[in-house]
Amino acid sequence: MRRIAAGPTAVIGDFRRYPGCRLLLSCGACGWTKSYNAERILARLLELKTGGHATRLDQVAKRVQWPCPGCHRMHWKAGFAYPAYIDAGEVRRQAARYRN
Ligand SMILES: [Zn+2]
Repeated sequence: MRRIAAGPTAVIGDFRRYPGCRLLLSCGACGWTKSYNAERILARLLELKTGGHATRLDQVAKRVQWPCPGCHRMHWKAGFAYPAYIDAGEVRRQAARYRN
């Protein structure tokens, strides 16, 4: 995964600015990571009425209620990242999809 420097005020709805990106949950203690479909996480927040496009990534990380499989602590951080397989062509295709 290639992490995207989205800044401390990044919100979940920002995933549309980074076509093809994933929501990367990472453990601040041991570095264990798991990636998620950002669109689905947003849909889930809306469904549960616990958030929306403007929910900050640090709030998303705080909502994670399970301990890290690597170190059994809860030091979650959330950010955006591109999967390794995303190339320039894929970024363009995804961008076109969000424009339409
Ligand atoms: Zn950990």
